[in-house]
Amino acid sequence: MGQSQRIRRLSERESAALDQRTPASSAMFRRAARVLAGGVASSFQAREPWPIYIARGQGARVWDVDGNEYFDFHNGFSAMLQGHANPLIGTAVASRYKLGTHFAAPTEDAVAVAEELARRWKLPGWRFTNSGTESTMAAVRVARALTGRHDVVRIQGTYHGHHDTLLVGLGALHERGIPPGTADLVHPVEFNDGDAIERRIVELERASRAPACLILEAVMTHVGLALPRPGYLEQVREITRRHGVLLIVDEVKTGLAIAAGGAVERFGLEPDLVTLAKALGAGLPTGAIGMAAEVARSIEQIGLVHLGTFNGNPLGMAASRANLLEVLTPGAYERLFDLNNRLLSGCDEVIAGSGLEAHTVGIGSKGCVFYGSEPVVDQRSFKRRHDPELAELIWLWLTNRGLFVTPGREQEWNLTVAHDERAVDRYVEAFAELADALTRQPSGSARA
Ligand code: PMP
Repeated sequence: MGQSQRIRRLSERESAALDQRTPASSAMFRRAARVLAGGVASSFQAREPWPIYIARGQGARVWDVDGNEYFDFHNGFSAMLQGHANPLIGTAVASRYKLGTHFAAPTEDAVAVAEELARRWKLPGWRFTNSGTESTMAAVRVARALTGRHDVVRIQGTYHGHHDTLLVGLGALHERGIPPGTADLVHPVEFNDGDAIERRIVELERASRAPACLILEAVMTHVGLALPRPGYLEQVREITRRHGVLLIVDEVKTGLAIAAGGAVERFGLEPDLVTLAKALGAGLPTGAIGMAAEVARSIEQIGLVHLGTFNGNPLGMAASRANLLEVLTPGAYERLFDLNNRLLSGCDEVIAGSGLEAHTVGIGSKGCVFYGSEPVVDQRSFKRRHDPELAELIWLWLTNRGLFVTPGREQEWNLTVAHDERAVDRYVEAFAELADALTRQPSGSARA
């Protein structure tokens, strides 16, 4: 039996088993589909034949509407770094609720959160938003306003949110509804290739269209995990500085999750702007942009407006403050990163023991198993080896074994401070069974 036939057979079996275990999700989907487009609140939540509807979460676990229990390795696309229903966040939110939840006027919590972000990121100027999309949209606007330029250089295949400018470059499906004039202003280059960035900037300069900014993730998270090559980020900073192009480091996923001060701390970066969201608000929709001194000063000089009724919302700020000061402490990070190392080495042992052609990549609280031996360094190398049928099997396999993971993606995970050895060991066990199912020779034939 060929490998793709084996994957298909296993998927059929696992898919039938999951359908059996989730009748309440199926019923909820039928109800939802009447009133919610596609039965979900965001296209990212959609799944065939129906999504798994979640009823509740506690610590490292979630329960679906059928009562199935899972260890959560998805964690709301990595937003739940503090674990579900964390009591410290609960106390902060409950206390704030009694004092009023929204004034569209600043509160002291916003000041305290900005102070802590300024300390962690060594950037003096902060503003708040309500999502990663709003953060990257605001950062690009700031860069355009300050430079008086319109063009944007971005990395091919990175996701930066769903506003027009930064959906350009993610494929035809994502670009529906975006005016061609917007697409003309955006210039994608592959990750991990500093020379390509310089070439593109020079081309644009020659056409009298010098770009306002380059936006990138220091670790590319939309392709599993692609780490920056040694010297790449330094080269990017040198090039952008020399050409007067502002450098925006999108830390919506890496911020707080790979170090207390995100990629900026982890790699010693000196960005002009950073964008945060996800793990900042401890499950409440909260984002931020951070600005270097010169950017913050110029913003005040040119009087740029950055707006939003709910920016700095008191509930989100109270949750963020508790998250930063009480939950994500140095000790919590130490345990979190140790646990990720345990998970990575567990997966490495499974790979070595099974002969599966695969390798792991990890950083901070995040990790990924790549099938195949070629390293993933950019979107091109990711696409060459990405197998959507295998990705679907992995999702089904893990879900059926009580592990909630991000659908339609690589075998990737986001740990939280609520995870423990039991959770990661369960993951390794399920992966070992999968590796065995993928590599086992049919009975009667000798193993090569
Ligand atoms: N930037 C990055 C790097 C992201 O991963 C995401 C979301 N996955 C966003 C921005 C957009 O964030 P949001 O979904 O909160 O709008």
